[in-house]
Amino acid sequence: MSEEVFKKVVSHCKEYGFVFTSSEIYDNGLGAVYDYGQNGVELKNNLRQYWWKFMVQMHDNIVGLDAAIFMHPKTWKASGHIDGFSDPMIDNKDSKKRYRADNLLEDKIAKYQKDGNTNKADELQNALDAALLANDLAQLKTLIEQHEIACPISGTRNWTDVRQFNLMFSTEMGAMAEDADKIYLRPETAQGIFVNFLNVQKSGRMKIPFGIAQTGKAFRNEIIARQFIMRMREFEQMEMQFFVRPGTQKQWFEYWKEARLKWHLALGFDKDSYRYHDHVKLAHYADAAVDIEFDFPFGFKEVEGIHSRTDFDLKSHQDLSGKKMQYFDADLDENGKPYGNYIPYVIETSIGLDRLFLYTLCASYKEEEVGEGDKKDTRVVLALPPILAPYKVAIFPLTKKDGLPEVARKIIDDLKFDYNCFYEEKDAIGKRYRRQDALGTPFCITADHESLENQTVTIRHRDSMLQERIPIADIKSILDKAISWKDILSK
Ligand code: ATP
Repeated sequence: MSEEVFKKVVSHCKEYGFVFTSSEIYDNGLGAVYDYGQNGVELKNNLRQYWWKFMVQMHDNIVGLDAAIFMHPKTWKASGHIDGFSDPMIDNKDSKKRYRADNLLEDKIAKYQKDGNTNKADELQNALDAALLANDLAQLKTLIEQHEIACPISGTRNWTDVRQFNLMFSTEMGAMAEDADKIYLRPETAQGIFVNFLNVQKSGRMKIPFGIAQTGKAFRNEIIARQFIMRMREFEQMEMQFFVRPGTQKQWFEYWKEARLKWHLALGFDKDSYRYHDHVKLAHYADAAVDIEFDFPFGFKEVEGIHSRTDFDLKSHQDLSGKKMQYFDADLDENGKPYGNYIPYVIETSIGLDRLFLYTLCASYKEEEVGEGDKKDTRVVLALPPILAPYKVAIFPLTKKDGLPEVARKIIDDLKFDYNCFYEEKDAIGKRYRRQDALGTPFCITADHESLENQTVTIRHRDSMLQERIPIADIKSILDKAISWKDILSK
């Protein structure tokens, strides 16, 4: 899929009520913040449910949690976010534009590569890696100067020094300004799980290995926000922390690495669109990490991370809070002795719901040539897995009169407890079908005059566009067969 088709996907999102720019009426909206429209919210809910069902319902040793967005500020001290969650930034004094210093250098490396200048590309890559590893901000600026990188807007090389810029949003808690305490909007959902580890373990009598799963908003003050909902300042994560016995983390890391890719593949999109990307440089808390990447129109990009986080988080919380974060393991080791007390190790799976949403749309969006001769036309169809479609079925009366709307309404009254149904009576039937194709609705049902006589309707299939006559009494069982969680969850 080309960049051009990506532009079409983005405009499709707006035109068909999937995604809108936040507060767009004011100065074209707020940067890198988006709202999900009437169809987007349905698709997003379904994707979230797909994750939840797989992680929580399908694993009897994983339970859910819904922790608050606000957390005690010490949480972020312990997790390392106050001291370490930052990007190196540089400003151009003429254009007043701010850039990530490492991105400017990466773009230069890409340019060297494109020009066939591999030696220079390698040399700069090594220098960049070394500067980042040593957290040497002065060296980053030197590299930008040495390689004569200019601001893409002003074209000048009039740069400020490189500074660290923390990505956490902060606000104050408390009614009085003088009592105000600085608190943060969580940059990840994981910490809500760590601080509740013992609450859940004890109240749920959980035995290791076990997991806690949660979905929810996270906030990051991303400087360079681009590619639509790929990089947002307010986004949603779906994370699971799996607590294991120390020494078994490698085996569980492999288990989750495989299980998570399988979950993506079960959506039924092209398997070549996915790949693993192993982390060579590991975060300070990790002893193994891999990303699952999807082949977006702008290249392979991270959608999910699987991280072996050791006991870093629980240990830091224990140290800073003074509360024990230990688990008593009564199972016996090879010497017949209980494993006893320890701080569990953790395997984390962390996926961005918005990125999942974006790739689902990119992979489903199709423009197809249909019809012949004068009737040749292009139709836009979202070939979504039926269970994820915002509407499962659209019901149309062929005309607005003769009692046909009543027949259609009656069918909806039967189906609406189980399925999200769409009703429409305006426009020619062909036009109505096309609008449903663009939303990904797997079935359309039309009631016509024959329906009044023999209680049958036409059912039209989204992908094949085939139409058949069926008894009204059979609709529910046809939908039940074609639309089920079991289909993708048992793959
Ligand atoms: P990136 O390298 O792309 O910034 P990350 O490595 O910082 O991502 P994690 O901290 O591992 O990401 O977060 C886990 C997941 O959360 C990511 O795989 C991604 O799907 C999602 N995510 C992270 N940042 C954003 C964002 N700004 N907008 C949308 N989704 C995000």
